[in-house]
Amino acid sequence: MKTFCGRANPTTGSMEWLEEAEDYDYHQEIARSRYADMLHDKDRNVKYYEGIRAAVSRVKERGEKAIVLDIGTGTGLLSMMAASAGADFCYAIEVFKPMANAAVKIVEKNGFSDKIKVISKHSTEVTVSPDGDMECRANILVTELFDTELIGEGALPTYEHAHKYLVQEGCEAVPHRATVYVQLVESKRMWSWNKLFPIHVEAEDGEKMIVPPSEMENCPGVPSVCDIQLNQMPWSDFTTLSEVVTMFSVDFSKPVQSASTCYRVQLEPVKSGKAQIVLSWWDIDMDPSGMIKCSMAPYWVKPTSALQWRDHWMQCVYFLPNEEPVLQGEKVCLTAYRDEYSVWYKLQKARGEENKGAVHVESPVCRCHAHLLWNRPRFGELNDQTRTRQYIKALRKVLNTESVCLCISDGSLLPVLAHCLGAKQVQYLILVFRSVQCSLAFSSHLFKANHLEDKIKVIEARPELLKPSHFEDKKISVLVGEPFFSTSLLPWHNLYFWYARTAVTSHLTSSVTVLPQSASLHMMVVEFQDLWRIRSPCGTCEGFDVQTMDDMIQDSLNFRESKEAEPHPLWEYPCKSLSDPQEVLTFDFTKTVPQHCLSTEGSVNLLRKGRSHGAVLWMEYHLDADISISTGLIQISNEKGNCEWNPHCKQAVYFFSSVIESETVSDPGAITYTINFDTKTGEIAMDFKL
Ligand code: SAH
Repeated sequence: MKTFCGRANPTTGSMEWLEEAEDYDYHQEIARSRYADMLHDKDRNVKYYEGIRAAVSRVKERGEKAIVLDIGTGTGLLSMMAASAGADFCYAIEVFKPMANAAVKIVEKNGFSDKIKVISKHSTEVTVSPDGDMECRANILVTELFDTELIGEGALPTYEHAHKYLVQEGCEAVPHRATVYVQLVESKRMWSWNKLFPIHVEAEDGEKMIVPPSEMENCPGVPSVCDIQLNQMPWSDFTTLSEVVTMFSVDFSKPVQSASTCYRVQLEPVKSGKAQIVLSWWDIDMDPSGMIKCSMAPYWVKPTSALQWRDHWMQCVYFLPNEEPVLQGEKVCLTAYRDEYSVWYKLQKARGEENKGAVHVESPVCRCHAHLLWNRPRFGELNDQTRTRQYIKALRKVLNTESVCLCISDGSLLPVLAHCLGAKQVQYLILVFRSVQCSLAFSSHLFKANHLEDKIKVIEARPELLKPSHFEDKKISVLVGEPFFSTSLLPWHNLYFWYARTAVTSHLTSSVTVLPQSASLHMMVVEFQDLWRIRSPCGTCEGFDVQTMDDMIQDSLNFRESKEAEPHPLWEYPCKSLSDPQEVLTFDFTKTVPQHCLSTEGSVNLLRKGRSHGAVLWMEYHLDADISISTGLIQISNEKGNCEWNPHCKQAVYFFSSVIESETVSDPGAITYTINFDTKTGEIAMDFKL
């Protein structure tokens, strides 16, 4: 079956209708899924296996039959572990159809068809009766339904239901218990992901300051978790203000309540400072004794030798609504609130008697609109002073009191900068199809805070529909963009600026300055320290043949994805450059988008020994002839080739279909490439030959 899906093309901005096979989403989901990463997570697998063996033995010792319920079976792995450990029967529930089908095949291939029944349903739809999905309730409950925030994938309601309807009272649960830990920290770097810092602008007529809107103070933001690879955050980027403390735990062997609630702990700061951030992670105990533990604790909490790299579980950064000064030794009270799917925090001074009364758990709602408009990296980018200074420097060169300026970028501070730097008239084009309400609301707060309400004209339109009257019949002399668009996923999607620039051509003066004047696409071959795992086949996992899963992922990749790159924030995923970075395409914004495709081909010289896992691609924007901004590589830090990446942007990663291992520095031209930018579709297609 085919369906038509409408979407705005992120690069060209045009609406397009794609004819998609009904299973398109499935392929997307499988190709980009975390199953491979989970199957590579040795620490997790080993501990589940130990926990399952222990649970089966406990049940057997009681003289009972071991009946297992495995909710969210995925490949069937945990059920196969249970069956191998001697379980009498397993019900393996999986809601995602293609996965359930794969589980059936994998279970069969491993010879467990008589012991494991795969049920392709959501667990809440499963029936228990002699002729139902399950003949009887289970006495062992095995699940792996956790995300980085523990509960974000719906573990709590699933457990609540399972205890009510699917398992016996007193059942054994693997994992037995989860515990959430927190640590209070001060970190300018992380805080810059949540609040807009004041911006100093040195203009001709003196120093000015752009201030954030007052609505941002006290704004609780949004309850979506900020999950990062905390192990990549250097110790120098934050200060711990408290010890690590247990925030709450959930016992999975007893009835679980998913209703909203809160938990309180008293903290005694070990240092005075500004409490801004709650760092959090969890561990799971596979058995009641607590001897089999799988922990997400970061490097400063556990020995590096015990660190298991994984991408499906990371650590959480929570932002307090406001920074709170705390004093060493002076107790404070930290409250964790949660609903069924998310967690958020508040900090109060501990006042004698604690309020133990009923609490009103109300999910945070962003009042300043910035948290709806900008994600965390975007906040960081806008707070990056080095970057802002580059824009100021470039803008100052081109703006004067006669300038009629048009800014095209989402949720941007450029119009305010342009005004501060003396442009006579500034208009800010808010593109109607890109989160327009938030953009309008936030801009209005920001302009008010800086007394600019009547200084910057906001135009709400699509670029191709602009009329001379929008500009009071004046022509634009300076067109600026960061460029940044919230709909961009891959680096080159921000080339939308070029399309918008093309659409407004008739409104530009003949000597218009376009800033950035051009962009370039860069590429480098890398060896990843760990990221390669997420796309590498598993073969067997703890002795079980899961190749069917590998084949399925490969099929989905071949369906469409393999010729595409995927976005990853590489500051979180260390890699080593094996080739020099090279510029592969350039885009001239002083001219309109050409009709013909832009293509290039060439070869890459491998300069270092290593495993070529793939190519990384990123954009650089040339604000003028001397000032450039890289959204990718900042520098190659040492002779080993370790790379430093722009911490606010995702880069594009193109995984090679097979890894090439170079023992010695191989001959030039070991890898050849062709890269093609189709100006009609805005898509970049690439092919690498090894
Ligand atoms: N158990 C596997 C896979 C874990 S991933 C392993 O440990 O390797 C979690 C899986 O649970 C996903 O495939 C998801 O589709 C499924 N899932 C989540 N909630 C579910 C529910 N309530 N009922 C059935 N399947 C669920």
